[in-house]
Amino acid sequence: MPVAATGDYDDANIFARILRGEIPCKRVYEDEFALAFEDINPQAPVHVLVIPKAAYRSWADFSGRASDAEIAGFVRAVGAVARQLGLEAPGYRLLANAGEDAHQEVPHLHVHLFGGRPLGPMLAR
Ligand code: AMP
Repeated sequence: MPVAATGDYDDANIFARILRGEIPCKRVYEDEFALAFEDINPQAPVHVLVIPKAAYRSWADFSGRASDAEIAGFVRAVGAVARQLGLEAPGYRLLANAGEDAHQEVPHLHVHLFGGRPLGPMLAR
């Protein structure tokens, strides 16, 4: 079910539980600000989720409330993951869903990183 982009942060969401170590993930990258792990239902040969370690629902929530260090750290982490996965040369796509129209399902900010094949047009028409 898609979730709204606004409202209080839900501490019980699945990515909060992954961050607390309550459920496992296939970790790809981790630093002070971010965790990256494989999507459980991959939609491309490479499908990784990058999440900030602190509690933010969406890009707007993150950009409005996070410190400059958190924002810089998260953006750098996304780039580090793309480099680490060898996607700079072949290319890759980043996507962040927010709210119901975008069909956000997990109310903790996450950037999808897709790669490993030609990815086709940006959106279904
Ligand atoms: P979104 O629709 O942008 O909120 O995407 C949520 C993504 O989280 C989907 O691609 C799911 O496959 C993925 N997902 C849900 N639960 C897990 C999990 N436990 N581990 C890894 N990925 C997950």
